[in-house]
Amino acid sequence: MKYLEDCYKKEFESEIIEVKDKFIVLKETLFYPKSGGQPNDTGKLNDYNVVFVGKFNNQISHEVDKEGLKVGNKVKGTIDWDRRYKLMRSHTAAHIVSNVIHKETGALITGNQLELNKIRIDFSLEEFNKEKFEEYINKANQVMKEGRNVSSMIVSKEEATNILGERFSMLAKGLPESIKEIRIIEIEGFAKEACGGTHVKNTSEVGEMKLLKVENKGKNNRRVYFTL
Ligand SMILES: [Zn+2]
Repeated sequence: MKYLEDCYKKEFESEIIEVKDKFIVLKETLFYPKSGGQPNDTGKLNDYNVVFVGKFNNQISHEVDKEGLKVGNKVKGTIDWDRRYKLMRSHTAAHIVSNVIHKETGALITGNQLELNKIRIDFSLEEFNKEKFEEYINKANQVMKEGRNVSSMIVSKEEATNILGERFSMLAKGLPESIKEIRIIEIEGFAKEACGGTHVKNTSEVGEMKLLKVENKGKNNRRVYFTL
């Protein structure tokens, strides 16, 4: 996936290989499709607005705002960088705070959703204490300040098991059986986990995190909202 090779690339050229109404498939793309709790990119293909990007049957499909693009057309793609960069910062922040909470409490993550102005994480955790959460956020903010490098590598499932253990991540549900290769995101000297999202290259780019609110979702589930 092109967008994972260099998350800082904002423009690219490609060719249209499939068109169905307003849905466009390109030879290759930098647009991130909605997946794994990270919203899709938006932007432009020539002067057509890209309003949604999704992955269907293993193909990335770009929904544009009007018809007219044809198979064989060369296009220039431009990512809406403000939106993407915000999501990159949020994604790295979500990893950091999840790792802090996991290390401190052993809680597993049962869900997460990035939005433009907030980050939602669900934990399975029986005991909840607001002061403790403020403390976890301070620890997470410390990691941002330390300016740790964030890098990625793609390895086989066996190698990933060696590096990460059986579970691959803190996600309660694990990864689908069908996956053969695993992308690992490493926050230098802090955490490693499987992830298919876009990240900043240094934790200092994230900024500072703030707790917005905590909801109780049943006896063992906590839903926490953060903002940057
Ligand atoms: Zn991730």
